[in-house]
Amino acid sequence: MSTHLTTVAGVAVDTRHFIGGERVASTETFTDVSPIDGSVLAEISRGTAMEAAAAVAAAKAAFPAWAATPRAERARLLHAIADGVERRLEELALVETTDNGALLRSHRRGVMPRVAHNFRFFADWLLELDHEDFTTRGHTNHVTWDPAGPCVLITPWNAPLMLATWKVAPALAAGDTVVLKPAEWSPLTASLLADIATEAGLPAGVLNVVQGYGSEVGDPLTAHPDVRRISFTGSVPTARHIAASAAANLTPLSLELGGKSPLLVFADADLDLAADLAVEQYDNAGQVCLAATRILVEAPVAEEFTRRFTEKAAALRQGDPREEATDIGPTIHPRQLEKINGFVRRALEAGARAVIGGHRGAGQYYAPTLLTDVRQDSEIVQEEVFGPVLTLQTFDDEDEAVRLANDTRFGLAATVATGDADRAARVTARLVAGTVWVNCFFVRDLKAPFGGSRHSGVGREGGTWSFDFYCDVKNTVTAPKGFKDHG
Ligand code: NAP
Ligand code: MG
Repeated sequence: MSTHLTTVAGVAVDTRHFIGGERVASTETFTDVSPIDGSVLAEISRGTAMEAAAAVAAAKAAFPAWAATPRAERARLLHAIADGVERRLEELALVETTDNGALLRSHRRGVMPRVAHNFRFFADWLLELDHEDFTTRGHTNHVTWDPAGPCVLITPWNAPLMLATWKVAPALAAGDTVVLKPAEWSPLTASLLADIATEAGLPAGVLNVVQGYGSEVGDPLTAHPDVRRISFTGSVPTARHIAASAAANLTPLSLELGGKSPLLVFADADLDLAADLAVEQYDNAGQVCLAATRILVEAPVAEEFTRRFTEKAAALRQGDPREEATDIGPTIHPRQLEKINGFVRRALEAGARAVIGGHRGAGQYYAPTLLTDVRQDSEIVQEEVFGPVLTLQTFDDEDEAVRLANDTRFGLAATVATGDADRAARVTARLVAGTVWVNCFFVRDLKAPFGGSRHSGVGREGGTWSFDFYCDVKNTVTAPKGFKDHG
């Protein structure tokens, strides 16, 4: 076996970059570990400015032919990639779980089918993409979505392949070529995607994967003058850095960032449903950008809500994410665990009370935590923890609920639990968020716009919004035959 192949959960994974259709090794490597038991999974090629430049050059070289490929053929290739994802679904699920510690059962049943769907959806949407012509004094306006060029796509570790393909699929559908940089804590499924794309017959250079530390390959990718789009999912500080780096070339950016989303529970809500929605926020050990981590409950039902929540939370099983019965897996990395622990420790020192949790578990696990007696201006209410840590505050009326809900620098999502449709309409209209759910959570159609307000992001992706971003949208105005009047 090549020294560049590693076997993870029985699956062979290439540890090299994928550039111009070839596997390329770096002299340096970084170590990828499993959050499940800390075992070393692979030594991964650690990119430098050289590999970044080579990948952009490969994407640039492949662009004209890919952009000229008829839409139907691009769509066919995307469906072929989806077929490959479905064929290797079990392998992808196993590798992803081993690499990032998220639940195997959700990878099998939800995430990886969704990865395939990302390709199918944007392939089909591409063929539907159309704007009706309109006329101006007899002239025809014809809108087209032209391919833009090489794109740099940078993704985080919490849902690696899901978030990568949510960008890769529309970019490829749009006729763009791609350099994907996965997060160093969970790089493996991006490498498998490169294999799948090759097997599907995607031409060399259309999809490239560069691995490495953001601090090393980030700038060479995001400051590159040949890059026409940058789409980034990750944290606010990294987004600021990328925006500054992209500024030199005014490269258009899409930023999907963090959140501190509220769950508003009104006294007229189905409290059982509300408690279920709250407990759901521990999914993926709380490492979910959309997580509604601030529970705001109308004062008269706070006690009853807390009772039901605590009962449901007590039934959650924390443990090995490969086990079917497990509800909450480990935290991705010792550094992340330390970060979570710090947030909670400081909150407790500031007077918060742990209703449940408030401490680490064994190994790399953090106990599901609910903190109350927290101040609105405190760190634990204002900053994203990205762990299984929720806060609970009470409110007296709608105005106060909305004020607390909107009072952070984020605006990614909000969830409202109420039995009153008029109240739902009033409250949702006042919430600042890219997505608002009423009596539900995480229902996400790829047709829908997705993104954040304020520090939760810049721009929207999803459906036509993705094509608006990944394309140079063009309007062609044609004069009627024989028309001479330019007045
Ligand atoms: P992060 O530290 O910002 O990293 C995200 C990606 O950026 C990684 O691939 C990272 O590479 C890379 N990176 C780091 N420095 C860079 C630089 N100077 N230039 C270019 N790229 C650089 O975020 P994270 O901790 O991985 O992810 C968690 C964050 O993502 C949370 O804030 C979460 O809310 C957010 N998130 C948002 C969404 C959304 O859709 N809105 C979805 C999921 C997650 P390395 O890590 O390999 O160095
Ligand atoms: Mg890993």
